[in-house]
Parts: sequence; structure tokens; C-alpha cells
Amino acid sequence: MSDPFDYDLFVIGGGSGGVRAARLAAGTGAKVAIAEEFRYGGTCVIRGCVPKKLLVYASGYSEAFEDAAGFGWTVGETSFDWAKLIRAKDAEIMRLEGLYAKNVAAAGAEVFHCRAEIVGAHDVRIVGEDRTVSAKHILVATGGAPFVPDFPGSEHAVTSNEVFDLPSLLKRVLVVGGGYIACEFACIFNGLGSEVTQLYRRDMILRGFDNDVREHVSTEMINKGIDIRYGADVASVEGAGPYTVTLNNGDKVETDLVFYATGRKPATKGLGLEAVGIEMTKGGAIAVDGFSQTNIPSIYAVGDVTDRMALTPVAIREGVAFVETVFKANPTKPDHSDVATAVFTQPEIGTVGLGEEEAREAGEVEIYRAAFRPMANTISGRDEKMLMKIVVAKDTRRVLGVHIVGHGAGEMIQLAGVAVKMGATKEDFDRTVAVHPTAAEELVTMATPV
Ligand code: FAD
Ligand code: NDP
Repeated sequence: MSDPFDYDLFVIGGGSGGVRAARLAAGTGAKVAIAEEFRYGGTCVIRGCVPKKLLVYASGYSEAFEDAAGFGWTVGETSFDWAKLIRAKDAEIMRLEGLYAKNVAAAGAEVFHCRAEIVGAHDVRIVGEDRTVSAKHILVATGGAPFVPDFPGSEHAVTSNEVFDLPSLLKRVLVVGGGYIACEFACIFNGLGSEVTQLYRRDMILRGFDNDVREHVSTEMINKGIDIRYGADVASVEGAGPYTVTLNNGDKVETDLVFYATGRKPATKGLGLEAVGIEMTKGGAIAVDGFSQTNIPSIYAVGDVTDRMALTPVAIREGVAFVETVFKANPTKPDHSDVATAVFTQPEIGTVGLGEEEAREAGEVEIYRAAFRPMANTISGRDEKMLMKIVVAKDTRRVLGVHIVGHGAGEMIQLAGVAVKMGATKEDFDRTVAVHPTAAEELVTMATPV
């Protein structure tokens, strides 16, 4: 009998989750197609994690030059060339984009460089080619897009979609939001030399993180010169650059850039989801079960479009689990517990597991905490502290959460994450001999709970 479908799998979206799923599925011998309407690599590679981290590196040099003096160096006059950085960033992103498209094709998938939309439980319209194909399974991996609230002058707001391509570095930047992107970019612009004002509508940035972490980072960001204004929001923006921004309390801020980082919304518009009756969550994400399957059995969804945990490695794991389930007869649920994450603020955050407040809701805890000046900040004269915090369940002794703020926190938390995932106890941390002299040794030498 001839195969009733053109493809075994059609993936819509060539970002972190979609590309991984397409590659792995094609590797099983399945007939796979993938469509990407913008650029292969998706948000992470093109306008997310990767270019962001390159900018973080660039912005760290201003402090490194200052610190060098304490170690005996005389650093001559320094200057920063935004256009040069952006050119170098673009070249690297183009290289990665090429690799993503090449690798998925090399795995055997058919690669479309255009938009695709769902027109039936097994039918996909390849918009760029104006034809419809059928697939036994459809995987929606369309990601998300920045959300800007409505206010007079909102058309002047720039988001993470545009920020990586600004023609020049602006002298004054207003950042709106208190989440990952707002805090990371407030630090990037500050490190590169812009005057940064950050508005956050509540009383402490980084809602959802451990409170000590939030306060520590907020204090250090303010110490570095970022003007964080709490309980503040934009009422209107006027001008054509420079802009006059009127705040909800009537204050005015003059700025050259209004950067909005007020969250992202799942990219579902015009995808044809309503036509086939796909159930959505209240927040507008595609509703899926533990196996990433929608209410239409042939259609699955992974990554940001499902709004479970908007992180690249999570989208990838969801893609991997989908392939295990559907193409390898090995039903696998992606595991969203104890996912380690970093926020590339300056200082950086690395965190895994429960914050103190969340852990206390679940039971009695012991808290181990150290705020100290790392050796790197002694003779450099930099007055910046690191924070290490371990949250331990009093009854089981399990380490429920590890939280680090400071240089290298992202690198450290990856390894602490292994221990937490394995169910390590505080005593396991204690019997691990320290690596000296490091900042990380504090993690295994905190003896007394606070
Ligand atoms: P995406 O990577 O967004 O890919 C979806 C793709 O689908 C896009 O390329 C889009 O063009 C395409 N598409 C959409 N609709 C269609 C259609 N109808 N037809 C064809 N193609 C379509 N995560 C981290 O883990 N670490 C970080 O440091 C980090 N930094 C970030 C910094 C920024 C500024 C941003 C915005 C995000 C960051 N993230 C980070 C989050 C991370 O980028 C996302 O979680 C991840 O990219 C999600 O992958 P995805 O596959 O779900 O979607
Ligand atoms: P977040 O959800 O992290 O933060 C959004 C921020 O905007 C919050 O502070 C929120 O305030 C505020 N906000 C929301 N709506 C409004 C509004 N109408 N007016 C004013 N403020 C508002 O989103 P981001 O855009 O920063 O990032 C999206 C996701 O991308 C992250 O959650 C993360 O999963 C991922 N990401 C990961 C990174 C990493 O791993 N390092 C880096 C960047 C992004 P409130 O707290 O009051 O809700």
C-alpha cells in the first residue's frame, strides 16, 4: 500500500526546538520536512541567547579595564566601536544560521525557507510555495515574539527583535521591565557606556527568583550606576528621538532609546490553529499534555509556543522527548524539574531548584548563605560582593536549591545542577573537598545555617 502522507513529520519553525526535532526524526529514517519563515536558528541564535551573550562579553570589558589597574596594568585610553561589534556579531550569527540549515538538511530533512501554516489535522500549507502537503505528524515549534503593551507613543518602543541591529550605541537608554531581558540589557548598555534608567512596575526586579538573589543583583546594578526606578511605568512617549517619556507618577525622562522587555507571547497568529480546533491556554499558548501532544492527536508542539519554560535547552529537550515518543516508540515526557538557568546580568545569576520562599511553603528548611568579596575584587578595589545560597530540606537533608550571584555563576550552576538533579544532600556537599582558591569553594564550605 502506498504511503498516504507526503511526510512522516512536518515541523513548523526552525528554532531551537524545531531544528532539533527535525534532525533527530530524520535520523530515524522518517521522511521529514521543516519550514522557517525568518532565519534558521530561531530566536536563540538570531536575536536571543547567542547575540545577547556576545554583547554581554563586550560590555564586561569596561570593568575589566578598570580592574586591571589594581593588578599593576596601565590601560591606555579606551574606546568602543558599536558598529564593529555588530559587524562581528552578524558574521558569527550568519555562520551559525548556515550551520543550522545545513545540519538539518544533512540529517535528511527537506528544508523550506518560508512560512508554513496548518490547514488540517494532517495538512500544512507551504505558504512560500503556495501548495499544501500532508504529514502523519505536525510539530509546531514557532516560538514567541516580544510583547509591548499599548500606550501613547508605543510605536517608538524598540524590543529585543530590533536591539541587536541598532545603527549606533545610544547615549541614554530607558529600559522597561524587570525580567530576564530587561535586566540583562540594562547591564549590557550600562557596561558599554550608556546612561541607563530602568523602570519596573513592582518593588523588586526578577520576580520569581529567590528574594536574596533579587535584592543582591538590584543593589549591585544600582551600584554600577543603573538608575532603577521601582513602582514606575511609562504613561507616554513623545518625540522622534530623542524622546520625552512621561512616567505614571508624572516624572519625565529624556532618552535616546526606549527599550521594552515586557515579556514574550507565543507565536500562534495566523497559524491555522483555530481552524483545526487546537486548544489554547488562557495565556494564548498551545495547550499540550506531558508528551507535548495537543488535543488533535496528529499535532504536537514544543518550545516557547507552549509557554512551559521559555529557555533554549528546554525547547531542545522537548523536541528530543517528542522524537523519542513518536519516532522511537519510547514514550518520554520532558522533565521540567530542577532546570538550572543563568541570567546574564552583571553580576551574573546562576540558579537551580527552589528559592527560599518557595521551599518554605513546602516544608521546614535550613538556609546556608554567604555574601563575600571574591578574591578577584580585592586588589582590583572593586567593591562588589558575591552571593552563594543553599536551600536545604530539614527532614530529608536534600539540597532543594542553589543560588549564585557573581562572576562565573552561569558556569558554576550547570555543575551544581547535576548534584541537585541527583538528589544530593547538604552532607554530600560538605564531604566534597573544596577547590582552592576559587569562589565556588564557598558552596562546599558553608557550615552553619543562618
Ligand atoms: P524559536 O527559537 O523562537 O524558533 C521559532 C522559529 O519559528 C522562529 O525562527 C520563527 O521565525 C519561526 N516561525 C514562526 N512562525 C512560523 C511559521 N508560521 N512558519 C515558519 N516559521 C515560523 N534562553 C536561554 O536558555 N538562555 C538565554 O541566555 C536566553 N537569552 C535570550 C535572550 C533574548 C533576547 C531572547 C528573546 C530569548 C532568550 N532566550 C534564552 C530564550 C530562547 O531564545 C527561547 O526559549 C528559544 O529560542 C525557544 O526556542 P523555540 O524553538 O521554541 O522557538
Ligand atoms: P519576563 O517574563 O522574564 O519579564 C517580563 C517583565 O516585564 C516582568 O518584569 C514583568 O513584570 C514586566 N511586564 C510585563 N507586562 C508589563 C506591562 N504591561 N507593563 C510593564 N511591565 C510589564 O520576560 P522577558 O521578555 O524578559 O523574557 C522572556 C523569556 O525569555 C524569559 O522569561 C525567559 O524564559 C527567556 N529568557 C531567558 C534568558 C536566559 O536564560 N538568560 C534571557 C532572556 C530571556 P512583572 O514581574 O510584574 O510581571
